[in-house]
Order: sequence, then C-alpha cells, then structure tokens
Amino acid sequence: MAVIETQISEPAAGLTQDSVVFFDGAFMPLEQATISVATHALHYGTGCFEGIRAYWNDDRSELYVLKLDEHVDRFFRSCGLLRIQPPFSRAEMSDIILEVLRQNHFRSDVYIRPIAFKSSQTIKLTLSPLDNSFAVFAFAFGHYAHREGGLRVGLSTWRRIDDNAIPTRAKVTGSYVNASLASDDATRAGYDEAIMLNGDGTLSEASSSNIFLVRHGRLITPPVSDNILEGITREAVLELGREGIGITVEERSIARSELYVADEMFLTGTGVQIEPVVEVDGRAIGTGFPGSVTTKLQLLYADAVRNKTPRYTSWCTPTYGRRAGPGD
Ligand code: PMP
Repeated sequence: MAVIETQISEPAAGLTQDSVVFFDGAFMPLEQATISVATHALHYGTGCFEGIRAYWNDDRSELYVLKLDEHVDRFFRSCGLLRIQPPFSRAEMSDIILEVLRQNHFRSDVYIRPIAFKSSQTIKLTLSPLDNSFAVFAFAFGHYAHREGGLRVGLSTWRRIDDNAIPTRAKVTGSYVNASLASDDATRAGYDEAIMLNGDGTLSEASSSNIFLVRHGRLITPPVSDNILEGITREAVLELGREGIGITVEERSIARSELYVADEMFLTGTGVQIEPVVEVDGRAIGTGFPGSVTTKLQLLYADAVRNKTPRYTSWCTPTYGRRAGPGD
C-alpha cells in the first residue's frame, strides 16, 4: 500500500490509497478521488481549504474535533471570496467532516483537510461562472513543526503577501506559493521555520502559523490588519492568555528588532499547535529556552483540546458520541 508521507510529521502519519475521503457528494477510497490535468485550480491556485485537528481522548474513547464551527465558518468565508457556493449548509459540512472521521475509524490524533476548488477545464482567468469541486480527507497526525527545546527560525527575504494582492484572511490555495517559498528557503538555511515581514517591514506571521511575543509581562501579537490569517488557534491563545493566566494582551504592529529583544516567542496554528521559538536569526530569545508563559499556555491548550477542561468543553465536538462535559 502506497503511503503519502507528510514531510514534517511523525513517521506514523499518513494517508493510504484506501483512506475514505469525501469527494463531490460521495464517500470513496482516496485512489478514486481524482481530477483532470486541465483543472482551473491546478493552474491558477483558485481553491481554498481548511486545516482542522481532532484530538483523541483515551479515557473517554472519543475523538474531539477542535473548533469545528469556527473552521467551517472560515471555510465558507474563504469560499465567498473565491465566489464558490458550497453545495451544502454549514451544518451539513460539519456532518461530512465527522462522517469522514467515523468511516476511517480513527482512534488517534487526526488532521482534517477540507478543500473547495474551481474544477472547470478552462484556461480563462476568471472566478465565475465556473464549476466547483469539494473534498475532505483526513489522516493520523502528530507534530507539524517541532523541535525538543524550541524552534530556531529565520526572517525570510520573501515578504508576506499583501491583502490587496490575495486576500490574506482567506485560506486560498494559490497564496501558499508565498508560504512555500519562505518555508523552503528557511529549511535549506538550516532553520525550522520562516518568519515573514510585511512590505513595510513589520512582522506578519510564519509560513503557516501566527506569532506571539512576550515582552515586559505582556502577550503581544500582530493585528488582523497586518496581512495575517485570522488564526483560530491565535484566538484560542488570546482567550487562554486573558482568562487562563491573566496576562495583558496587545494586538499591535511589531517592528523587526522587537522580535530579537523579546523575552519569549511562540508560534500558534492548528498544525503547529503552540510551539516555542528559542532563536531568531541566530539570536537567542530570552534565556534561549522555552519561557514560562509559553509553557503555561501549552499546558492549558493541551488539556482544552482533549476536552479535559470544563470551561472549554464547547471547543470540542465529539465524533463518535454525544457532546459531553468533562465532569459527566
Ligand atoms: N497563518 C497561515 C498562513 C496558516 O496557514 C495558518 C494555518 N491555518 C495559520 C496562520 C494559523 O491558523 P489556525 O490557527 O487557524 O490554524
């Protein structure tokens, strides 16, 4: 059985040709979900997608999808920007995602990838009227970008796409050329991840995650107007910061040199989760070890995503059973 390995995930991660996927209205093995080489989205990047995680809770024998409603909402917003009308409601899309998980009988942490794209076989540069396709696949998944002791990152020479070029708050497939260029250069230069600046030199985000700094006891992150993706983990971390550890949060533009003098730094995203950064461009951040605010947030997040914290039980949608609180 051919296994499609994701490049930076743990070895057990994989998608097999008989994984059950949803494609244009039906559930089928991955090997049957194929598209034409003339597909518009293949040539022009005219698609949009989501990245969602589900976490296995062994005590409850339950797989919890994290922030499902928020991801489905963002997917519909991305579709709207590309003039894609999904052939189902938000509730139906959630059911499709849960059904993909059930049909694959996952009993481990999972990454879920819904995608919608322009499927017409045409070379015309337009968004409408064109046909659209829709798919969901999922696979067992561990870490995305992780290094014991924290990540070492580098500032990219590639600038983050501007919202007036490609909408940055939509997860548009074509915009990930920008992220891939930055990430590839960073890896070749020996870094774990790339940090991207905006055209004006302020901080934007990493290739597939948002950035936080801790400085003078405050949690600081760029505002949504600084060409970032409106990260769902970012929102969760802002909530955990305010409520869970009572830290003051600031959403404001960050200048390049403020990165180098931060006390702590970390990345957030569905894939990366909360990952400490201990070095930027060969300069140690703070002590050069993951900081205490970062570690506290990681611990709070790790419990919340597996539905082990009553306060955040609404973040977790069960796959196999009913929506249950940790206490019952
Ligand atoms: N920025 C980009 C460009 C991303 O692809 C992602 C991952 N979706 C993020 C930030 C983090 O967003 P989220 O927390 O919603 O996964």
